[in-house]
Amino acid sequence: MANTSNTYEDLIDTLNYQELMRLKTDIDSGGMNTKRLMEEKIKRRLREHEKSCATCSNFLNFYGQSNYTLLLGPDDAKKKASFCGIDCLEYFIIKMKEASSSKAAEKIDTQSDSINRNV
Ligand SMILES: [Zn+2]
Repeated sequence: MANTSNTYEDLIDTLNYQELMRLKTDIDSGGMNTKRLMEEKIKRRLREHEKSCATCSNFLNFYGQSNYTLLLGPDDAKKKASFCGIDCLEYFIIKMKEASSSKAAEKIDTQSDSINRNV
């Protein structure tokens, strides 16, 4: 089976000699142009839906009226999850809730453990 995922190395591989030299020159001088380009691209990508649903892996219909996207986590390390419909979104939220409540239960467990040890 052919590997369809593009790696960072594959991306660099697509650049021709002049583009590679331009990138290297920019990186050598602090990489400000590359950084600005990447930040613009990230901002643009944040506004788009992902290509597939985080719950059922179906491809999202570009023109679909029932596409949803959630942004998760802190500003400097945001994660994005898209969904093909409200059912998949709901399933994801239920799973997240279960995961966070089991984490909270674990926390309470370890806290009570340390309290017990201190007594
Ligand atoms: Zn789905």
